[in-house]
Amino acid sequence: GGVIGILGGGQLGRMLSVAASRLGLRCHIYDPSPNPPAGQVADIVTTAAWDDAAALRAFAESVDVITYEFENIPTAALDILEALRPVRPGRQALAVSQDRLTEKDFLRDLGLVTAPYRDVPDEAALQAALSEIGAPAILKTRRLGYDGKGQARIMAPEQGAEAFADMAGQDAILEGFVEFSCEISVIAARGVSGEVACYDPGENIHEDGILRRTTLPASVTPMQQMDAVLLAGKILNALEYVGVMGVELFVTKRGLVVNEIAPRVHNSGHWTQAGCAVDQFEQHIRAVAGWPLGNGARHADVVMENLIGADMARVPELAREADVQLHLYGKGEARAGRKMGHVNRIMRG
Ligand code: ATP
Ligand code: MG
Ligand code: MG
Repeated sequence: GGVIGILGGGQLGRMLSVAASRLGLRCHIYDPSPNPPAGQVADIVTTAAWDDAAALRAFAESVDVITYEFENIPTAALDILEALRPVRPGRQALAVSQDRLTEKDFLRDLGLVTAPYRDVPDEAALQAALSEIGAPAILKTRRLGYDGKGQARIMAPEQGAEAFADMAGQDAILEGFVEFSCEISVIAARGVSGEVACYDPGENIHEDGILRRTTLPASVTPMQQMDAVLLAGKILNALEYVGVMGVELFVTKRGLVVNEIAPRVHNSGHWTQAGCAVDQFEQHIRAVAGWPLGNGARHADVVMENLIGADMARVPELAREADVQLHLYGKGEARAGRKMGHVNRIMRG
């Protein structure tokens, strides 16, 4: 066999498809949206709905292994797929990362440090949580949030009611605000036979809740770098994980605090395309296809910058720059806040 099924056809699915194709594998994308960016490069695309049981079955039967580029795959669809083909990374990783409360509990039970957090099923619970955790704090929907969406900052307890109303009835958790010196992320991979390979941590800058830039090397000490890599390995092993994961961390005076994990290739890992012999996309395909992992050692300093919305106007100029690796996702309209592409700038001397 040699067909990888990918759930989700955004830019991550597209770059996974390119990596698979380089390894002589074929890709079959499942994405209900009309023109998924991955559809332009994959071999086959299914655009049926997530509740189309027959389409899901046919998809599973057409592939050898199933992976995904986003973590919010409906549970019922997974049940159908999983009965027919291996889904990698497995169910536990999805269950843990689909819900911020489950995720935080899992990390805490592993002995890792997270922001203080409380489940807030109602407004009374929010007020109680605010008095325990204190302000500032962040109210986050438990499910489906990304790029800072579904979050409200609470600077004083009086703002609790309004923040709770903003959640519009969605389940939420309250997190204490972490005083961090910087944000880093570790991209880590685990193979079918249990070997683990981690990339160097990158330093992330967000603007308007969206990742703007990732810089390698990060401004962390060798000790912090070691902690970051070890804790990522601990997470992967605990989940018997197969594939690439992104682990987002806050660097604080008292050590590393885990923000969240993503059971997939990660935007903050795009730098590996220019900095490593085997990038995160190839690494993920290798892992899920049961191949040995590649070498994730970093051979260059890299700054990855996202091209978001109107940044697309800079493409002609970027295309003239030396040492700039340009990635465009083939998306149509450059709407504000939409990730359209990225550049990897190789830094010299
Ligand atoms: P992503 O697009 O990475 O999935 P997300 O919408 O899931 O993002 P988070 O990563 O939880 O959201 O938060 C977005 C950003 O908000 C973080 O990268 C960080 O800068 C800030 N942030 C989130 N939680 C906290 C916290 N508890 N303390 C301080 N800053 C925080
Ligand atoms: Mg997230
Ligand atoms: Mg995040």
